[in-house]
Amino acid sequence: PWMATPETRAVMDCLSNGGGEARFVGGCVRDALLGRAIGDIDIATNLPPEKVQQLLELAGIRCVPTGLKHGTVTAIASHIPYEITTLRRDVETDGRHAVVAFTDDWKEDASRRDFTMNALSMDGEGLITDFFNGVEDAKTGHIRFVGNAKTRLEEDVLRLLRYFRFYAHYGKGAPDAEAIAACQSMAVHLPRLAAERVRVELLKLLAADDPAPSLRLMYSAGVFEMLSAAGAIHFDETGLDHLNRLIALEKERGPADPIRRLACLFYDAMDFADAKKHARALRLSNAEQHRFSEILSKPFNGQQPGDSDFFLTYFRTGPEGAIDAAMIGLAVEAPGHWHDVIDYAEQTGLPRFELRGRDAQDLGLPPGPAIGARLAQVRDWWIHEGFRPDLSACQEKLRQLATDNRELP
Ligand code: ATP
Ligand code: MG
Repeated sequence: PWMATPETRAVMDCLSNGGGEARFVGGCVRDALLGRAIGDIDIATNLPPEKVQQLLELAGIRCVPTGLKHGTVTAIASHIPYEITTLRRDVETDGRHAVVAFTDDWKEDASRRDFTMNALSMDGEGLITDFFNGVEDAKTGHIRFVGNAKTRLEEDVLRLLRYFRFYAHYGKGAPDAEAIAACQSMAVHLPRLAAERVRVELLKLLAADDPAPSLRLMYSAGVFEMLSAAGAIHFDETGLDHLNRLIALEKERGPADPIRRLACLFYDAMDFADAKKHARALRLSNAEQHRFSEILSKPFNGQQPGDSDFFLTYFRTGPEGAIDAAMIGLAVEAPGHWHDVIDYAEQTGLPRFELRGRDAQDLGLPPGPAIGARLAQVRDWWIHEGFRPDLSACQEKLRQLATDNRELP
């Protein structure tokens, strides 16, 4: 396992040989405990960051001072980053920026962490320290705040979204009533979060095996009403039903895709203009915004493979966009022709129009804008024919058009 690799050992040993204590903390401990694949490896130590840096350099391990002020140094061994952070305690907080001081008290460091299952630490031998019953909570799927839920949310409202994210990935059974009540009362403070942080949490939440129960809780706690700077985001039971059907389909046709899931959730509630507005407000990347609103523009409406309208849409969306549309179509409508669309997209791939300006010059057409127009004419014909004509057929078509010297439309 990851904690026994020579690289990990070297990093841990260099800290303990330097007179410090080093333990794994956060998500990697939780996931190791549950036998899940780990994300990143976080290490906490009582040594100050300058000392950590010095020890790593002496041991010949590459290190980057990623956040010296916050006590973080990143060691890199065999391309694997280890984020090493000096134990901290909160001094004061205004709900957005925690002011921290270094400490050598492991319990103080654990107390600042959000959930009991995230407050575990583990030494190099695999021995876990658990101050808040986090081992049992992890195993039974209880997402519980360290300390008072309301207070912890007042310190940092991002924890509200983290709560639902962790519930989606690790929750079992009914959620903690105290936590839900606290989330409900603190949801009004969500607008102060930077949209980029909302985006990260939302996409991580949507990547869970089944995010629907958590989304349902969020919806009834009023989270979505507060989330978007572009106005309330609405979805209802219908959206959740659609999402459940999409998830069932993904199990057959793979893969789980957060953006597609998000679009599915809002399929009934948003038109193209809304989608663009919300996608931007949620700080989706440009590519994500494009995909999200492309899906919600509901392309292929009533078009099936074989229609010339269909080929025109397909030329624009390509196979990925067609499969997105078909997966959503299958989730929200009667199956109809959507399986044909997926089969078509899988067989066809990306259509490539290979005719070039050279081909026109070879035919002796005078260079200039007329060439572009002729090529576009041939391309439209080729799309209309379902991308079937090959290069020589397209050259032949171009020759015909040129010799006929037909007027351009
Ligand atoms: P992932 O698998 O998504 O990386 P993670 O638990 O490692 O899950 P991170 O966001 O990487 O989550 O944070 C690492 C650890 O830092 C958490 O396990 C938690 O202990 C602590 N932490 C992160 N964000 C907060 C926060 N907003 N408030 C309190 N503790 C936090
Ligand atoms: Mg992590």
